[in-house]
Amino acid sequence: MRFTLLSKHLLVYLFVAILGFAGVNYFCFRIDYNQIINQEASDMYRQAVTIASEYSGNVSETDQLEKAKIEKILSSTASLSNDRIVFVKNDGEITLDTDYLSCGQTHYYKISHFNPSDFGNDHKIVSNFYGYLKEDYLITYAPIVNSYVVNGYVLVTRSKSSIVDRVYTVFNTNYYTLMLMLILNLSFIILYTTNVHRPITQLSNVISEYGKGNFSYKTKIKYNDEFRLLASSLEYMADKINNLDEFQQAFLSNISHDFRSPLTSIKGYLEAIEDGTIPPEMTNKYINIILFETDRLTKLTNNILLLNELDPSSVKLELSDFDINSLIKHTLETFEGRCKKRHIKFDLTFEAEKEEVHADKVKIGQVIYNLIDNAIKFSKDNSQIYISVSETTDKARISIKDTGCGISKESIDKIFNRFYKSDTSRGRDKKGSGLGLAIVKEIVNAHGENIDVISTEGVGTEFVFTLKLV
Ligand code: ADP
Repeated sequence: MRFTLLSKHLLVYLFVAILGFAGVNYFCFRIDYNQIINQEASDMYRQAVTIASEYSGNVSETDQLEKAKIEKILSSTASLSNDRIVFVKNDGEITLDTDYLSCGQTHYYKISHFNPSDFGNDHKIVSNFYGYLKEDYLITYAPIVNSYVVNGYVLVTRSKSSIVDRVYTVFNTNYYTLMLMLILNLSFIILYTTNVHRPITQLSNVISEYGKGNFSYKTKIKYNDEFRLLASSLEYMADKINNLDEFQQAFLSNISHDFRSPLTSIKGYLEAIEDGTIPPEMTNKYINIILFETDRLTKLTNNILLLNELDPSSVKLELSDFDINSLIKHTLETFEGRCKKRHIKFDLTFEAEKEEVHADKVKIGQVIYNLIDNAIKFSKDNSQIYISVSETTDKARISIKDTGCGISKESIDKIFNRFYKSDTSRGRDKKGSGLGLAIVKEIVNAHGENIDVISTEGVGTEFVFTLKLV
C-alpha cells in the first residue's frame, strides 16, 4: 500500500488528536484533581485549626445559649464555603453539626466506630465518614486540645462532587488548549496541502506527461515560489527537448531533400545518356552537370561531417600561434578565378603588418573561407568586398563586409541555424546548403569567441568575429 505525504500527515494528525484527548482526559484530570484536592484540604485544615483553637472548650458542656450562638456563627461560616462543620468527641459522639442545627439539644448523634487514627497523618481523608454521610466528602480535622488533653476533633468537610465540579472547570482549559493546538495543526496541514502537496503532485504529473512526449503540457502552479521556479525550469527543458525533436525532424528532411535533388538529376542525366536521349555530341555538357552535382554532394557530405565534428561537447581544437593576415591573404587566392570573372575586388586593411593570434589555424581558415564565399555569392558583379583586421586590448577583430543584397530582418536571426537558406539565396545559388554559417558559428564559439552580423537589405552585410591575440 502506498501512502502519500498527505495521508501520512493526516494519519499523524489523527494520532496526535487521539493521543491528545486521551492524555488530557487521563493525565491532566489526575494532575488537576490532586492539585485541587490538596489545595482545598490545606484551606479546610487551616479553617479547622482556627475553629479548634477558638472553641477549645467542650461544646457539649457549654450553656445552651452559648452553644446556639456558636452553632449559628459556624453554620454561616460553613454555608459561605458550602462546607459542613462537625465537632466530634473522642468516643464518636457528635456535639455540633452545622447541617443539623441542635435547637438547644445537648447531643446530636454518636458514631460508634469512630477512631481518630483512621484519618492518618496528613489530616485529610476522602470518605463517607463511616457511612454517616450520603456521599464521599473531603474531610480535614484538627484536635480540640484543652490543658494538654485532646477533648475531641473539629471536622471541616466538603462534598467530593463539588470539588470535582471545580476540577472540571479548571480541567476544561486543557481542552481549549488542545482544541487550539489541533486547529493550528489542521491549518498547517491545509497550508501544506495547498503549498507543498498540490505543487508536488502537479510537478509529478507534468514529468509523466513529458515522459509520454506531451511537451506542451503546462503546470497550474500559481504562486511565485520555488515550485514555480522548478516548474518553469521543467517547462523550459520540455521546450528545449521539443525544439530538439523538431530540429531533428527538420534536419532529416533537409538532408533528404538536399541529397535527393542532385541524385535525381544525376540519375536522370545518366539514364538519358545511356538510352541515347542525349546525343553523343551533347554528352560532355551533361557530364559537366553531373560532375557539378557530385561536387555539391561531396561538399554537403563534408559539411555535415564537419558539423558533427564540431559538437560542442567533443570538439577538439589544435591551437597554435599564426598570422591571421597571411591566412586571409592565402584564402583569398582560392577565390581569384571566381572574382576575376565577376569583376569583384577586395579591399584589405590590416592595422599591423602581422597579427599573431592563438587559434586552430585550419578551422579558422574554414571560417574565413565560408564568410568570403558568402560575400562573393551575395555580391553584385563589379563590386568590392572589404576585409579588415584591427586590434582591441587583447583581441584581433576580423571584419568581412560586402555591398551585396543584405539580409532581411526576418532572416537575420536564423542565418546561423543549420540548413537555413533565405528563399532568395535558394533561387540565386543552388550550391548553398545552409550549413556554411552554422559551421562558422560553431568554430568561433568553440574558441570561446563571438561572431556578429550587421546587415541592411539592399546595402550590404558585415560579419565580425574576434580571436585571442598572442
Ligand atoms: P549557404 O550555404 O546557403 O550560403 P549559409 O549558412 O552560408 O548557407 O548562409 C545561410 C543564409 O544566410 C544564406 O542562404 C543567405 O540567405 C544568408 N547570407 C549569408 N551570408 C550572406 C551575405 N554575405 N549576404 C547576404 N546574405 C547572406
